[in-house]
Amino acid sequence: MKTVKVALGSRSYSIYVGAGLLKETGRLLKEVGLSGKTIIITDSKVRALYGEQLAQVLTSAGFEAGLVDVPEGEQQKSLETAGRLYEELARLRAERTTPILALGGGVIGDLAGFVAATYMRGVPLVQMPTTLLAQSDSSIGGKVAVDHGNLKNMVGAFYHPRLTISDVGLLRTLSQREISSGLAEVIKYGIILDPDFFDCLERNVARVQALDESVLETIVSRSAQIKAGVVEKDELDMGSRNILNYGHTVGHAVESVSGMKIWHGEAVAIGMVAEAKIANRLGKLRQGDVARLAKTIKQAGLPTELPRLEATRLLEAMQHDKKVLQGKLRFALPKAIGEVFLTDQVTASLVREVLTERHEET
Ligand code: NAD
Ligand code: MG
Repeated sequence: MKTVKVALGSRSYSIYVGAGLLKETGRLLKEVGLSGKTIIITDSKVRALYGEQLAQVLTSAGFEAGLVDVPEGEQQKSLETAGRLYEELARLRAERTTPILALGGGVIGDLAGFVAATYMRGVPLVQMPTTLLAQSDSSIGGKVAVDHGNLKNMVGAFYHPRLTISDVGLLRTLSQREISSGLAEVIKYGIILDPDFFDCLERNVARVQALDESVLETIVSRSAQIKAGVVEKDELDMGSRNILNYGHTVGHAVESVSGMKIWHGEAVAIGMVAEAKIANRLGKLRQGDVARLAKTIKQAGLPTELPRLEATRLLEAMQHDKKVLQGKLRFALPKAIGEVFLTDQVTASLVREVLTERHEET
């Protein structure tokens, strides 16, 4: 097991990463002073795979465990579902001290986290992420939210858990496509902040895909450490946390113009390669580094080339993104593998040039 400490003053907590940790949940809850009644919030798929098991583990450890599930999918990140969960919590007589255990992927982490932040003005939250994306990214940083209208994450809060338990053994039931999508953000951490971690990923991508538990423990804990480090410096996302947006300016546009057919991680992978090319055109990143990072992304089972989406539509989508400030596109770009900078000096014509490049080449 690896432990990552997140230092946020009075809101500090630990992230535990390891194979088989689900069975240790009772002991880990007691260590932070939680006891008695708990409520597990999960989705129907994860409930069948691990939810009942977690409830039994907790009962054997002397806890009372309520288990509530919602259907799978992003549509559940809504005020309506949050409303139903408040009613369930009241029916189960959850009190201000009753911890909510968010067992699932990023959807459950965001939704159950939002419910924990708001039910009775906040109850203790325990994040128990079950996808690679949730373990390495979404469960860290305290952002919880639901979608509203057409806007993703429109209503939310910053609310940190009392502890996070990432059992990498639970990742074995994910599809290869889900593992690859989660890997995109992991590779991103290496490119923006940690050259040694990037080397490690470059050497071990195949072992990650084979779900080697010791490699998973290493990459999830290192990802958590890197993201926690960024969050500690800019908890409320006022500036420097923007370096986490590498690959996302182009990525979000690709995701949305594809009508969500291209998954987030895949779109970020495409975005990371396109943005590396932009950095190269600006004279900041060597061509050799562009090729090197693209190779690792490809080996992770991710796309590296832009699909045949119209550059004009992509540019339009970028202009509507929340990263646009006073009409200027903002990018986090690598200047070497392991080093990143923020800029609003990238022109629309340079972006267009890189976005249309492939069609000229082929
Ligand atoms: P998800 O939660 O929808 O999970 C994907 C699918 O995997 C679901 O069908 C789920 O039932 C299933 N699943 C979960 N764990 C499983 C397991 N161990 N085995 C088999 N199947 C399993 O999606 P996600 O990709 O984990 O998360 C995406 C969400 O995360 C989005 O809503 C996004 O906005 C959010 N997010 C939040 C942050 C943040 O900082 N809060 C950051 C990034 C993404
Ligand atoms: Mg992302």
